[in-house]
Amino acid sequence: AGAGRRGCAATASGDAETAVVEGAQQGQRGEQRKQGKKQQGSKGGKGGKAAAEAEAKPVVPVELPTNESSDRLLRLRHTSSHVMAMAVQKLYPGAQVTIGPWIDNGFYYDFDVPEGTELNLKKIKKRMDRIIAQKLPLVREEVSREEARARITALGEPYKLEILDSIESEPITIYHCGDEWWDLCAGPHVEHTGELNKHTIALESTAGAYWRGDADKAMLTRIYGTAWETPEQLAYAAHLREEAARRDHRALGKALDLFSIQQESAGGGLVFWHPKGALMRHQIEDYWKQMHFADGYELVYTPHVAKLDMWKTSGHFDFYAENMFDQMAIEDETYQLRPMNCPFHVAIYKSAPRSYRQLPLRWAELGTVYRYEKSGTMHGLFRVRGFTQDDAHIFCLPEQIEGEILRVLNLTEAILSNFGFEKYEINLSTRPEKSVGEDAIWEKATAGLVAALEAKGWDYVVDEGGGAFYGPKIDLKIQDAIGRKWQCSTIQLDFNLPERFDMSYVDSTGAKERPIMIHRAIFGSLERFFGILVENYAGDFPIWMAPEQCRLLPVSDAAAAYAEAVAAKLRARGVRVSVGGGERLAKLIRNAEIAKVPVVGVVGARDEEAGEVSVRTRADGELGALKVDELVERLAAAATSKGAF
Ligand SMILES: [Zn+2]
Ligand SMILES: [Zn+2]
Repeated sequence: AGAGRRGCAATASGDAETAVVEGAQQGQRGEQRKQGKKQQGSKGGKGGKAAAEAEAKPVVPVELPTNESSDRLLRLRHTSSHVMAMAVQKLYPGAQVTIGPWIDNGFYYDFDVPEGTELNLKKIKKRMDRIIAQKLPLVREEVSREEARARITALGEPYKLEILDSIESEPITIYHCGDEWWDLCAGPHVEHTGELNKHTIALESTAGAYWRGDADKAMLTRIYGTAWETPEQLAYAAHLREEAARRDHRALGKALDLFSIQQESAGGGLVFWHPKGALMRHQIEDYWKQMHFADGYELVYTPHVAKLDMWKTSGHFDFYAENMFDQMAIEDETYQLRPMNCPFHVAIYKSAPRSYRQLPLRWAELGTVYRYEKSGTMHGLFRVRGFTQDDAHIFCLPEQIEGEILRVLNLTEAILSNFGFEKYEINLSTRPEKSVGEDAIWEKATAGLVAALEAKGWDYVVDEGGGAFYGPKIDLKIQDAIGRKWQCSTIQLDFNLPERFDMSYVDSTGAKERPIMIHRAIFGSLERFFGILVENYAGDFPIWMAPEQCRLLPVSDAAAAYAEAVAAKLRARGVRVSVGGGERLAKLIRNAEIAKVPVVGVVGARDEEAGEVSVRTRADGELGALKVDELVERLAAAATSKGAF
C-alpha cells in the first residue's frame, strides 16, 4: 500500500509516510474467510484442484494500465480520492481529512473520525456516485500561505495546518470540488467529477494508520479504494486481488504450518521457521549451494556481529546507521549486529596477500542480517527485521567484469527459472552525479554490464544516473503466477569498499592494485523469496520442494501394514512420505487436500493383492492404480529432476 506517496497533501507534506497497522485490513480478512468457504463448498469435486478452479466464474484478462503508463488513470484515481473525502465529510460531520494520495491500484485517504464512528463503505460509495452525477468542476486555486492558514483555521482542521506547515514552496495550491469542498493539493485532477465512472470505482477496505506513520501520534482510519478506466479493468483487478488474498503467504504460512512471526513474545519482523517451512528452506538452500559450487563459487561463513570499528571503516556507521540495530557493549568494546555481510567477506580477502593469479574469487554465503524497520511497516515475510541474504561477493580484475557479470546473469536465470520465473524486467542503473571512483573505471564497469546484458540477449531499461554513488548496478524483477512483479536479484559493482578497506592484489608487474568488488544476490532475501514462492504456487509446491511429497491413506486398519510397507519403499528412495490413519477415509482425503500434499495414494485389500496404489495428485486429480514400483520411480524422478509427477 505504501508504493506511491505522491499527489494531494502527500506531495506537500514530505515525510508524511503513514504506516499501516498490520492485520488491520478488515476487508481483506473478510475476503479470505469467504474464500475459505468457497473452497469447502467444492469438496465433493472429483478432480481435485482443477475442478474447483473450473467452478469459479470466468474472468476476462485485460491489460491493466498503471499510474506510470496512463496519466488519465492517475488523474481519475486522485480525483476519486477527493470525491471520497468529500463524501466522508458530508456523511460524517466532524471527520477530518489528512492525506490522500494515489497508489498502485487506486487511492486512499486517511481520516480522523470522531470516536465510535463506523465508516460505512457502501454509504460512502453511494454518496460518491451522487457527487459524480453532479459533475462538479475541480478548480485549482493559488493562495498565499496566510490566506491558506486563515481558511484552514475557519474550517477548524488542525491536520491541514500541520500539512501546510510542511509545505515549503509557495504559492500554496488548493483544489476545489464544486463550491462546498476543497483540500490542499498539488493535483493533478480531471476537469469535473462527471469524468469519473461510478462503475469503475470501488471502495475496498479500511485500515488503521498512524498520523505521519508515528505510533505516538493519532490513529487514523484509512479507506482504500480502487479506480480504473473501464469496468472490465475493475473486474479483472478485483479478480487479481481475490487471487492475491487467496495466495496470501501469511495465511498460507499459518494454514500449512510453515512459519510464524511471534510479535508479542519475540518481536516483529523475526521469523520462526517451523519444521515444514524449514524443510523447504533446506531444499532451496541445498539447491542454491549446489548451483553455486557448480559455477565456481566457494562457500564462506562469517559472524553476525563485529566490533563497531569495522562498520566505521566500511562507512555503514556513518551512512547506514538509521537502518541498523543499536550497538551493544561487550567487555570494553562496542559491537554492532550486522546489517550486511560485505565487510566480512572483505575481511577474509584481507586475511592473506592476494595475487592477480587468484582472481576472480567468488565467495557465497547465506548470510543472516538484521536491519531496523519501523514497527508499523513490517509485513509477513516481505518486510522483516532479520533475514538471510543469498549473498555473494566477487573480487576480480577490471578486465574480468564483463565475463563475471555474464556468469552471474546465467546463474540467475538458471536458478530463477527452476522456480518457474522465466519473465524478467531488467534495469541498468548508471553513474549518479555524486559518486566515488575514477571516470575510467565507471566507464569500463558500465560498458562491462552493458556488454554482458547484450551477450545474454536480455532487454533492459537504462536508469540514467540512478546507480549508487559507489558503482553501477543491474537489478531484475520476476513476474509471478498472477502477473505481479517482484524485485529480487541485484548485481552491484562497488568502487568504494575496496578503497575504504585498502584492499589490494599484486599484478603481473608486481605492482599493488585495487580489486573490483561485485555484490550480488539472486533471491535477495530467503524469507521474502519464500513468501513470494508461497504466493506464486498458492501453497501447491512442486514435488522437490514440498515438505510432504506423498501421503498414503489406508482404507481401513487392515490395510495399514501394507501402507507402511509401501511407505518404507518410498523412504528408501528418499521420498518424504507419511501414512494417514485414525479417521474415516473421506476425512483423511480431505485432510491431505487441506495440507496440499501433491501426491496421495489410497490403499486397500485389492491394491495390496495387485501390488498397487490408487493415486490422485493435486495437479491432475485421479490417476487410477499404479504399481508400487512405478509410484516409487515417478516420485523419486520428480524430486531429482525438479519436474512434475
Ligand atoms: Zn489531492
Ligand atoms: Zn555486499
